[in-house]
Amino acid sequence: MSLLGTSIIGASRGNGSKVTTHAINPATGEKLEPAYLGATSEEVARALELAAAAFPKYSRLSGKERGAFLRAIAGEIETVADEIAARGPLETGLPEARLRGETARTTGQLRLFAALAEEGSWVDARIEHAQPDRQPLAKVDLRSMLRPLGPVAVFAASNFPLAFSVAGGDTASALAAGCPVIVKAHSSHPGVSEIVGAAVRRAAEKTGMPEGVFSLLYGGGRDVGIALVEAPQIKAVGFTGSRSGGTALMAAAAKRPEPIPVYAEMSSINPVVFLPEILAQKGEVLAEGLFGSLTMGVGQFCTNPGLVFLEENSAGPFLAKLKTLVEAGAPGVMLNSAICEAYHSATSDLAKKKDVAVLAKAAAAPGQGQGSPVVFQTSVDTFTADPELCAEMFGPATLVITGSLEKITAAIVDLEGQLTTSIHGTDTEIAQVDDLLAAMENRSGRVIFNGFPTGVEVCHSMVHGGPFPSTSDGRSTSVGSMAIHRFARPISWQSAPQSALPAELRDGNPSGIWRMIDGQRGQG
Ligand code: NAP
Repeated sequence: MSLLGTSIIGASRGNGSKVTTHAINPATGEKLEPAYLGATSEEVARALELAAAAFPKYSRLSGKERGAFLRAIAGEIETVADEIAARGPLETGLPEARLRGETARTTGQLRLFAALAEEGSWVDARIEHAQPDRQPLAKVDLRSMLRPLGPVAVFAASNFPLAFSVAGGDTASALAAGCPVIVKAHSSHPGVSEIVGAAVRRAAEKTGMPEGVFSLLYGGGRDVGIALVEAPQIKAVGFTGSRSGGTALMAAAAKRPEPIPVYAEMSSINPVVFLPEILAQKGEVLAEGLFGSLTMGVGQFCTNPGLVFLEENSAGPFLAKLKTLVEAGAPGVMLNSAICEAYHSATSDLAKKKDVAVLAKAAAAPGQGQGSPVVFQTSVDTFTADPELCAEMFGPATLVITGSLEKITAAIVDLEGQLTTSIHGTDTEIAQVDDLLAAMENRSGRVIFNGFPTGVEVCHSMVHGGPFPSTSDGRSTSVGSMAIHRFARPISWQSAPQSALPAELRDGNPSGIWRMIDGQRGQG
């Protein structure tokens, strides 16, 4: 398709304000055509009106109808996979193979949520029958299930231009729940956003969805994003990005006359603990695993391992191998100049810290828009005394911290919330570190044994969330089928006639879903 550079507002295209942005090729600094026109305030208002008008109809479609829409989106995205693979590397510096892999992950996510909506049991239907003769008080008939919140604003992430972007996990889970979506495109990859946004529109039209079920708005300068969060029509927000961006949206949502939930995935440094026996057994192999995880995607993953804890004197071969690998490591193009500058500034600030040493850095100098692997080292005492050592360095950098197991455990207890914590140890070692495991569970959303945090499986039991600031709400996940719960709320119907009940709560179970009836789970 030829790119038009305008917002998608329901079934029409915007004309845009005078404020234009271009995608910039991070590898060359070259401006990419076309210019993207930010949405005007009238266009934002139109997208909001359409979403609010779509909600009553869209939220009442059956799970099968919503599933068909999500499957159609996946199918439409597959028809433009070559266009994504051509444009994506220019806008993001990511290789074509990564873009193709991420396209497949995105269509897989859409189909996972389609299946969830079609099967229908996610609504957690519960029926308690009336007991008019109960003493001392009669019991009324009460039935409950999860229902969609309303239109959702989704902020696309820079580091996953597909899987956490226009038709990524936030959009898929909100649509599956029954919520219309307005996406604020990320300014880093507007062309890929337009290709995917147009695919979503085609799917909406082919499956007869109400017009306002989906819009895609461009706009830098923060006005469009803040206008969405403040709009009374919006009932929840999904976001992946920086801590400053996520907390700004949380503050804007909390200040509304009707505050709304913001599900922001923000900052995580993903500590990895290596116990001594496993390091003695296979230190070099573990160094290779850590290096692979650290440098994957030029370290631009929210699950990048940014802290490594080891006991003193246990890690000679491990650290020697890590040093060799990092020194031979290659620089890589980062997603955009802001992320690249932030990485260089974070690593040079850390290098200036007293009592923090550079263990190893890549020998090759970084070129235009590039970041290089670097590993720092310090003691657990220095680490615990300086909260700045916990700042996220978004890129291929990590800080190795050495100290006693007791002090390492205390340091993990005091960490800010994380998406993940990882531990490497033999079975015997792991059986002896209950306090450490309890601290890891308390501080993170996913505890990983003998593995590395990068690589997030999209499935029913994945939790990609964690206590603040890894996310704004540690009770939620942004990956996997549980993500749907962010965009729904429980409602009870009391003494309702059958005709007034959703199908999921009617006698005879016409939807055939799993329900809880008078305390017993079943499909009856
Ligand atoms: P970002 O700057 O937070 O931007 C994400 C989205 O939010 C963009 O659409 C942006 O608009 C919007 N936005 C940001 N601040 C806002 C504000 N104050 N008010 C309204 N809208 C706002 O994130 P990014 O560009 O993806 O990456 C920047 C940094 O975020 C990275 O260096 C890294 O530290 C961190 N990051 C973390 C993760 C993670 O998962 N932990 C993932 C990605 C990035 P514009 O498009 O107009 O800028």
